[in-house]
Amino acid sequence: MKRKIHIGLKGKLAMLLALLLASVLIVLSTMVLAGIREDQRNRLEQLFAHESANANLRVRQEFLTGTRITPDLFMQRSAQRLAVDLGAQSGMAVTLYKPDDSFAGTSLPIQPRTDVKDALEYTAKGQSVYITEGVQLLYLAPLYNADERLGTVQFHASLADQYAFYSRIQNLFLVTGAAVLVAGFLIGYLYVWRQVNVIAKLNQAANQIGSGKYLLDPLVQRKDELGELAQGIYEMSGSIASSLSQLTEEKLKLLDAIVRLQELEQQQKQFIGNISHELKTPLTSILAYADLLEMYRDDPSLLEEARMQIGKEAERLYGLVEKALQLSSMDIYEFETKAKVVEVSPLLQEAVNRLQIKAERHGVTMEAHLSEGTVWADPENMMHMVLNVLDNAVKYNKPGGTVTLSNHLVEGSNSEGYMVIEVVDTGIGIPMDAHSRIFDPFYTVSGDRSRAYGGTGLGLSLVRSLAEKQHGLVRLVSSGPNGSRFEIMLPMVHLNTETDGL
Ligand code: ADP
Repeated sequence: MKRKIHIGLKGKLAMLLALLLASVLIVLSTMVLAGIREDQRNRLEQLFAHESANANLRVRQEFLTGTRITPDLFMQRSAQRLAVDLGAQSGMAVTLYKPDDSFAGTSLPIQPRTDVKDALEYTAKGQSVYITEGVQLLYLAPLYNADERLGTVQFHASLADQYAFYSRIQNLFLVTGAAVLVAGFLIGYLYVWRQVNVIAKLNQAANQIGSGKYLLDPLVQRKDELGELAQGIYEMSGSIASSLSQLTEEKLKLLDAIVRLQELEQQQKQFIGNISHELKTPLTSILAYADLLEMYRDDPSLLEEARMQIGKEAERLYGLVEKALQLSSMDIYEFETKAKVVEVSPLLQEAVNRLQIKAERHGVTMEAHLSEGTVWADPENMMHMVLNVLDNAVKYNKPGGTVTLSNHLVEGSNSEGYMVIEVVDTGIGIPMDAHSRIFDPFYTVSGDRSRAYGGTGLGLSLVRSLAEKQHGLVRLVSSGPNGSRFEIMLPMVHLNTETDGL
């Protein structure tokens, strides 16, 4: 299996820097070395031009002194001596050739063996020629006396020094190049290492955010692009955290709503079950009387009893249906508030008046101690609440008892406070264990007791719902064998919040 080698950013950038430096060095060294070559060549050319001119002068002088002979003969006679002289003068080995290109003489101990035939052809045409052989350089130049060709002079020069110098410089470049390469790589690596460390930190921060740990500070404080990136990541982390907490909040609200909906559904099921049951009882009673009347058509006492009972049951049914409808509409529909400023005293007085006849029938005295004041409520709903509580106080009273209705102000969390409507009776009272449940729908302290008084178990539940919708509350303050005390509290000004300040 092939394994892919990963070179990190550090290595790549350091390598890039090193390669850049190396290429600069290569170009530079090539240029310098080419310059050195060029310079060496020029120097040699100058040297050879100078030496060959000197040699030409010397040979011509020699040729012109003494008796005139042919250049060939001259060379044959004097070339060996001249070659030694010229060698000593120039500091180089010198070989001379006749005009016919044959060997004439040399300052070397033995005749040089290098084949210079081709080169001699050029000198025959008046040109100078270089021949390099290993570290040896041969320079051949024609010798003239005016237009007459005297032969060819050949200098033997060694290039060893030049080569040595050239390779010294080359080595210098190689060593420097390698050092620069290594230093460049290291410096680059160290510099990039620092930058990559910052990137690694940012990467770590991103991973941290991914796993739900949000940043408390930007991690990297810099005034460059990486600093800006760090700041950006920090801000992103903040906004993710805040939108996540918003989402969590929304989720919790939704869950709450679901729980509330489930509760409502449950309540509604229970409500329907209860109401069906409650509707059955009076209907059974009515049907039973219908059967009895069918059987004993002429019984006047039965007729009277049936009329009374059917009337009572029908009234109970009516009350039950009315309250049930009101309660269920309040649960299902958003409460349509028609709240306004209501003068409390006239409304309470009106409630007392409405129940006066019923109270008299029960042998109960109604008293009202009312004071002036206003509340923020729906007057119709308020009337329902007061009537229900007052009705209970009359229903569950003892013959000769009293019902007292009064109102007073208390300070609340809002600047205006609350109006407290108090209903006190001298009735049969509510057992301690029933105190917390009397506001539940269909709850009655005792089925028989309640039915005997025409109760449905919906009255107080309706009062509580209505009170809460007006941002108020209803509560049983106390109850015992000598009577009960109920309180309805309503805000005096318009409240948008729930009644948590109470
Ligand atoms: P109901 O229609 O049965 O009166 P409510 O919801 O109005 O239903 O009252 C619930 C129960 O609380 C009643 O069944 C009754 O037993 C009891 N109750 C309410 N008010 C009083 C009171 N003033 N004195 C005694 N018992 C009361």
